[in-house]
Amino acid sequence: MVAGMVAGRLAVVTGAGSGIGRAACQVLSREGATVIAADKSYDSAVDTIKTHTALACGASDIGDHTAVELDVADQASVKNLVQTTLKHYKTRSTIVVNSAGITRDNWMLKLSDEDFDNVMDVNLKGTFLIMRAFAKIMSETQTPGSIINISSIVGKYGNLGQTNYSASKAGVVGMTQSAAQELGKFGIRVNAVLPGFIDTPIIKTVPDKVREAILKQVPLGRLGEATEVAELIAFLASDKSSFITGAAIDITGGY
Ligand code: NAP
Repeated sequence: MVAGMVAGRLAVVTGAGSGIGRAACQVLSREGATVIAADKSYDSAVDTIKTHTALACGASDIGDHTAVELDVADQASVKNLVQTTLKHYKTRSTIVVNSAGITRDNWMLKLSDEDFDNVMDVNLKGTFLIMRAFAKIMSETQTPGSIINISSIVGKYGNLGQTNYSASKAGVVGMTQSAAQELGKFGIRVNAVLPGFIDTPIIKTVPDKVREAILKQVPLGRLGEATEVAELIAFLASDKSSFITGAAIDITGGY
């Protein structure tokens, strides 16, 4: 029997092929969860399971963890994830981490409808589709659970070149709070995490000058690590946070 904060639970993680999602798989598996790593890139999700999760567990094989190809913005793909989850595991999902996300940055005056819609489709509607699908299963089967949605500090304060992204992330907070109010009666907690600037591939497009300017505004004087966000996710997934729901928690180094 594996010990840990979330021992014996099933964790579905989107955007699991990279960055914060991958780190969440690592920490949740370290804490005893069986992980379903879902990502647009199947190969990246497999890599998370093989290279990160299993090793992080200290296991000699990849255990029961599974990789699934998923486009969170596509209803059929979300349905496939739900079916795979139910087929592979007799147990029900009790942890859902919505980490899939994209940026399509541009000045608002130059931002295309397409780049606005794509960001909303993945970051906001994708989070909704996953939340609705798994909350339905959890409520119908009376399985308590914890849903963690990755928003962004930019959703609270805005950012140059990110009208689309900040709108999507502010939407995630509102949606989280509403879902928490609806799902509390089923024993399902829903919380949002608002990272500041975390060292993952998504910020590789930020020019060095902008990065330096940002760092000057971070009291801790550095970018965050994906694993630091993952530790917060694991806390919210576990019973240690049993009275926390509808919360939006900053993790920014003070930014
Ligand atoms: P990341 O390293 O780029 O990871 C995001 C993952 O989501 C990638 O593997 C990406 O796949 C996947 N993805 C993109 N579109 C998808 C879709 N439609 N369906 C399924 N998976 C999809 O970025 P990250 O930093 O870990 O970001 C994770 C979350 O944290 C995002 O929601 C992001 O907005 C949020 N966040 C990040 C920061 C930061 O500073 N890093 C700050 C605040 C909030 P591809 O690579 O194939 O596109």
